[in-house]
Amino acid sequence: MIELSEAISLIERAAAPLPPRRMPLLEACGRVLAAGIVSDVDSPPWDRAMMDGFAVRSEDFSAGAQEVVELDVAVDLAAGDVTTLEIARGTCARIMTGAPIPAGADAVVPVESAVDGTARVHAGGRVRLRDERFRAGQHIARQGAAFRRGQDVLTDGMMLGSAEIGLAAEAGATHVLVPPRVRVAILSTGSELVPPAATPAFGQTRNSNGPMIAAAVHLLGAEPIPLGIAADRPEAIRAAVAQGLAADVLVLSGGVSAGDLDLVPEIFRLCGVEKIFHKVRLKPGKPVWFGILQRENAAPTLVFGLPGNPASSLVCFELFARPAIAILAGQARESWHLPRRPARLTGPAKAAADRPVFLPCRLATSDDGLVATPLPWSGSSDLLGLAGAAGLIALPAGGQRYEAGEEVEVVLR
Ligand code: AMP
Ligand code: MG
Repeated sequence: MIELSEAISLIERAAAPLPPRRMPLLEACGRVLAAGIVSDVDSPPWDRAMMDGFAVRSEDFSAGAQEVVELDVAVDLAAGDVTTLEIARGTCARIMTGAPIPAGADAVVPVESAVDGTARVHAGGRVRLRDERFRAGQHIARQGAAFRRGQDVLTDGMMLGSAEIGLAAEAGATHVLVPPRVRVAILSTGSELVPPAATPAFGQTRNSNGPMIAAAVHLLGAEPIPLGIAADRPEAIRAAVAQGLAADVLVLSGGVSAGDLDLVPEIFRLCGVEKIFHKVRLKPGKPVWFGILQRENAAPTLVFGLPGNPASSLVCFELFARPAIAILAGQARESWHLPRRPARLTGPAKAAADRPVFLPCRLATSDDGLVATPLPWSGSSDLLGLAGAAGLIALPAGGQRYEAGEEVEVVLR
C-alpha cells in the first residue's frame, strides 16, 4: 500500500503527451496546441477606419475648435474598396468602417459630425464637418497595433477555445499541431452486473460505472470507448482487456480487491501489463490498481483498475485517471488535477483513523470564502450522496473530528 501523493507522482511520471498530429483548425477545438502559431499578417493588416465618416488630414482641423470645416469629398471608400488617390489639403474621403485609410489622411471624422444636411454627401460633393473633440489619429486602428507578422500569437500548451480559434484563423493557420483525442476504453467487470436497461433480478446490480466513467471521460474532452460488461470468468475478462489495451488508456472497474473472484490483477499480468502500484492509502478507493503496457510502434497504454463500488470508482477516476488523460492530451500542469481550496465547515466531519478520506459536500461562497456543508452519505456504494456534491472534503488520516467553523481542504469537482 502506498500513499496518495506517491501514487499521483507515479502516474505523472508514467504518462507523457501523445505524439501530436496536424489537423484542420476547427477539429482541434478544445485541444491543446503542441506547437505555437506564427502570424503571416499584421493585425490590423493596414490602417483601418473604425467609424463610418470622413477620412481627413488633421492639419485641416484644430483640436477643440467650434468652427465648421468644409471639405471636397474626393472618393468613396466602403470596406473592401482601395484607392491610390492621396487625400490633399482641403479634401477628404467618404469612408466606411473596415476600409483602409487612404494616403494623406490621418483621422476619421464620424458621419455624426457632418452638419447642415451634408452627412450623405458622396464623391464630387462638399461636406461640412464640426468635431469639437477632434484629435489627430482618431478612429483609426493602426497597422500592427494588435500583433505583427512573424509574431507568435499562440504558444504551445494553450487550449484552443473560441477566441484562440478565431485568432489562429486570422493569423492564417488552417491546420494546427495538437495531441490527438485520448482514446479511453471502459470495461466493467462482475458476474452480477446487468446493463442499465435491464431490471435487476435478485443478486444483480445495474452497471452504473460504465456510463459514469464514460461521462467523466467525455467531460475531459477524451473519447470514451465503452466495452460493456465482462463476467468474472478469466477468459471473458481477458478477451475484453485485450481489446481495451489497444486504446491509449484502459479504465476497468471491479475485481481488483482481494476476493475469490478478484481476477483482474492476474489477468493484467498475463496480458503483459507492468504493475506500478496496487492499493493506495485512501478512502474510498483503497484497492485501486495502476500499470502500464509497453507497445511496439505505439505509445504505451496506461491501465487503471478501479474498485467496483461506484463512489470509489469515481473518486479514483478523478484522482488518478484524470491527470493521466490530461497529460496524454498535452494539457498544462495546472489543469491536470481537480482544484483544491480551503473551506469552512458548516457541520462536523470525521476523518478516518488510518487513511485520508474524501467526503461529498455542498459548496457555497460567503464573505470570508468557501463554505462546505457535508452531505449525508452512506459510503463507497452511495452515488446519491455524490451526485449533488460540488466538492469533496479531503481530511488527512488520524481519526480527528472536525467541527463546524473549522477550516478544511476541499476538492472541487
Ligand atoms: P468489486 O470491486 O468487484 O469487489 O465490487 C465491489 C462492489 O461494487 C460490488 O457490490 C459490486 O457489485 C459493485 N460493482 C462492481 N462493478 C460495478 C459497476 N460497474 N456498476 C455498479 N456497481 C458495481
Ligand atoms: Mg466484482
